[in-house]
Amino acid sequence: MLPASATEFFTHLLGPENVYSDKAHLIAYSYDATRERFEPDMVLFPRHEQDVSDILKYCNEHRIVIVPRGAGSGFTGGALPSSGGIVLAFEKHMNKILEIDMQNMVAIVQPGVVNMELQRAVEEVGLFYPPDPASQEYSTIGGNVNENAGGMRAAKYGITKDYV
Ligand SMILES: Cc1cc2nc3c(=O)[nH]c(=O)nc-3n(C[C@H](O)[C@H](O)[C@H](O)COP(=O)(O)OP(=O)(O)OC[C@H]3O[C@@H](n4cnc5c(N)ncnc54)[C@H](O)[C@@H]3O)c2cc1C
Repeated sequence: MLPASATEFFTHLLGPENVYSDKAHLIAYSYDATRERFEPDMVLFPRHEQDVSDILKYCNEHRIVIVPRGAGSGFTGGALPSSGGIVLAFEKHMNKILEIDMQNMVAIVQPGVVNMELQRAVEEVGLFYPPDPASQEYSTIGGNVNENAGGMRAAKYGITKDYV
């Protein structure tokens, strides 16, 4: 159960288009690949780091559980709001590749970037991002990092933890 001030606070902070609390959306964000279901009380779409910071501050003050979510393709239940609270979804806005630093071979990305988009972007400049979970067309870097995802290339090149 969220405090009475939550809807007004988050709507003012993010705009109504980035605050979901209607039943249809709560159901849509209630599951992942485990097919278990736990409905959140609210789904929020932060636009940038400052939004994340402001959301975390409010939730910390009010002792509200936050569950980050990428594409919801995980098999561990990590993206499930098993005790309610807020799902923080990164796929809508925080999905950009910010920099590909060729010299240092470092990419700076937001957590909602889809794995395959990063692979394609670095390949265009002659680099290679090896972690290739079978969900690469839709799983996100945030989810990959948190699940330490890997795929067919793991035997030769390693998995996500080797590239963070
Ligand atoms: C058909 C299919 C094939 C798959 N194949 C593979 C495979 O080959 N190899 C493999 O390793 N996995 C595989 N998976 C599992 C899954 O795709 C991976 O675990 C992937 O890394 C999850 O990414 P996601 O964006 O869907 O994350 P989600 O499922 O949304 O989240 C996963 C975890 O990361 C956390 N998280 C997400 N974003 C953030 C963030 N910004 N900050 C903090 N925490 C965050 C969530 O809270 C959750 O705990 C597969 C899944 C499917 C459905």
